[in-house]
Amino acid sequence: MFKKVLIANRGEIALRILRACKELGIATVAVHSTADESAMHVRLADESVCIGPPSSTESYLNIHEIVAACEITGAEAIHPGYGFLSENAKFAEILEAHGITFIGPSAEHIRTMGDKIAAKETVKRLGIPVVPGSDGEVIEFSDAKKICDEIGYPVIIKAASGGGGRGMKVAQNEQELQNALHTARSEAGVNFGDSAVYIEKYLGKPRHIEVQILGDGKGHAVHLGERDCSLQRRHQKVWEEATSPAITPEQREEIGNICAKAIGDMGYSGAGTIEFLYEDGEFYFIEMNTRLQVEHTITEAITGIDLVNEQLHIAYGDGISFKQDDVSFNGHAIECRINAEHPETFVPSPGRIEHYHPPGGLGIRVDSGVYQGYSIPPYYDSMIGKLIVHARTREECMARLKRALDEFVVDGIQTTIPLFQDLVCNEDIAKGDYNIHWLEKYLD
Ligand code: ADP
Repeated sequence: MFKKVLIANRGEIALRILRACKELGIATVAVHSTADESAMHVRLADESVCIGPPSSTESYLNIHEIVAACEITGAEAIHPGYGFLSENAKFAEILEAHGITFIGPSAEHIRTMGDKIAAKETVKRLGIPVVPGSDGEVIEFSDAKKICDEIGYPVIIKAASGGGGRGMKVAQNEQELQNALHTARSEAGVNFGDSAVYIEKYLGKPRHIEVQILGDGKGHAVHLGERDCSLQRRHQKVWEEATSPAITPEQREEIGNICAKAIGDMGYSGAGTIEFLYEDGEFYFIEMNTRLQVEHTITEAITGIDLVNEQLHIAYGDGISFKQDDVSFNGHAIECRINAEHPETFVPSPGRIEHYHPPGGLGIRVDSGVYQGYSIPPYYDSMIGKLIVHARTREECMARLKRALDEFVVDGIQTTIPLFQDLVCNEDIAKGDYNIHWLEKYLD
């Protein structure tokens, strides 16, 4: 196993990775900006290196400084976490050129999946169901019209290089299509430096369901079931659950096996997530994330498998520590993303945490980098922690979640805990009866 790993991230995910390394006897190197000198990931790591000023472009995204930190400390590998450099193919290539292991897939796989048109073509060829739409880029209105007449309206025009929920336009009919195609192309060019767009059928009330996979890079892969992340605000996930209240064990096995086979055939290495929209019993691929995700914890809760431990083993060349048949899904898990934001306006609320008391007890996991007296810097993402609750059934899980939220004390700043206290008492949520538009409507 690696002797020393550098963690190129901050906050709760840096801690999460550090914990897996410690359990494997791997020494850890934290990197941090000047704003994060007193952060928990810096305090708990064996060594730490300051890599720049607060702005992420000059610190957590500064490849030169991160490679230098690796060379100074003698770290053999880098775990990128999520966000920052985790899906940067160039970064993976630079590490390879320096003889440093990137804990993640190959640069080629990152690049393919980062281009939505190439990703869709690739997974379609590998047998994964996709949303009906254009075969690749659409430039001319006449071509767009032909495709839309075939698939039917409404349609969605998406930027090939888009991400984070940006670069999408919906057209309800032919009149809207002409305008939408034109605007989508010019906006994509301005925002993403690539004007390529493609067309898909717009699904009216889908759920967001994603499948967790692990590939060993040698043609073998497994799936760890699905997560339902339909509760979203501005395309950002807010509440996630595993398993999905909407799908059956048979559907889980079927889509899981399709994904695992495709990932194995690709020769994919490491952890990844295949994201789908799900409507009327059908799965439609939307994108693949070639990294560990925020919500990986709920999969860990119901399978008992440590995904970061597996990532480390795969990157070292040891393969996956279990077989598909060893995977079973036990009980139900829910994750709430706790943000330092006003619970109604979602305005960020950085500042000093005066009192902090996380909930505890059976089935409770809190992944967070904050502590009492810690000052949340204003420069980064507002997520300050994740509350993960596991129980034997969904009903028990909801009751436990409600109890845990009532116990959670974070004073001095605003958090989104009150939003979750409302959601956990909502009837639709209790029934699992929601889709990707539910939360936006609720908040309106
Ligand atoms: P991004 O990379 O920007 O997150 P995605 O392709 O993952 O883009 O889509 C983000 C969100 O946009 C989805 O979760 C869903 O809410 C909406 N969306 C994407 N494609 C469609 C579609 N074909 N029909 C309806 N909604 C869609």
